[in-house]
Amino acid sequence: MIKLRNIQKSYEVGTNRLRVLKGIDLHVREGELVSIMGSSGSGKSTLLNILGILDDFDHGEYYLAGTRIDRSLSQTRAAQYRNQFLGFVFQSFNLLNFKNAMENVALPLYYQKMSRKERNRMALEYLDRVGLRERADHLPSELSGGQKQRVAIARALISRPKLILADEPTGALDTQTTQEVMDIFKQVNREGMTVVIVTHENDIAAQTDRCIRIRDGLIVNEEHEYAIYK
Ligand code: ATP
Ligand code: MG
Repeated sequence: MIKLRNIQKSYEVGTNRLRVLKGIDLHVREGELVSIMGSSGSGKSTLLNILGILDDFDHGEYYLAGTRIDRSLSQTRAAQYRNQFLGFVFQSFNLLNFKNAMENVALPLYYQKMSRKERNRMALEYLDRVGLRERADHLPSELSGGQKQRVAIARALISRPKLILADEPTGALDTQTTQEVMDIFKQVNREGMTVVIVTHENDIAAQTDRCIRIRDGLIVNEEHEYAIYK
């Protein structure tokens, strides 16, 4: 699903160059549930943004679902690949505050030629999947943190992506809600979706097939140490 070879990324900071990713090699197979860990500032979000074609990279090769992703794509092409392959979940939910839960979930379908009625029908179906059908007409401000994240997950799922990328999706949630959100990721993974989760929590990493650790801009292990827990 994902193949990275020698991915490098640096940022211009003032007159300096900050080398963040120094040569990432990574292979994620279709159907895997993978976690990424590493200390704050180690480059996890940078890596996830590259995987998500939200950011370009300086050097290396990236293949997504067999398609070569050039290091610097046009906005249009990047958006096209994102719509075709990817679903995103962020720590801060990124819901539109003036739209209700159903409208938020339906949003990705807006860009496909689909009637409003059909979009709403599908949005309700996906809200149902995350256990929130009865909250369809609630605004984000009327939902708990865990509920907001479940709405965000339903929105990520509705375009049936091949790959879900989640950047600390439970970072703002308490322990019980964290597990509810994790259970949804595990369920969609069992149904065949590939899932990559950045996390600081060992309890989350322990529930994934394997944990990739980043240190000083490099992957320090690629072990299957967590496989036994799944
Ligand atoms: P955290 O666990 O705190 O979320 P992270 O591992 O996700 O950290 P990144 O956000 O990838 O870390 O940042 C890696 C490094 O790159 C940090 O030193 C950060 O300050 C720097 N950085 C990230 N984005 C930019 C940017 N747009 N411009 C300049 N520097 C950046
Ligand atoms: Mg981060």
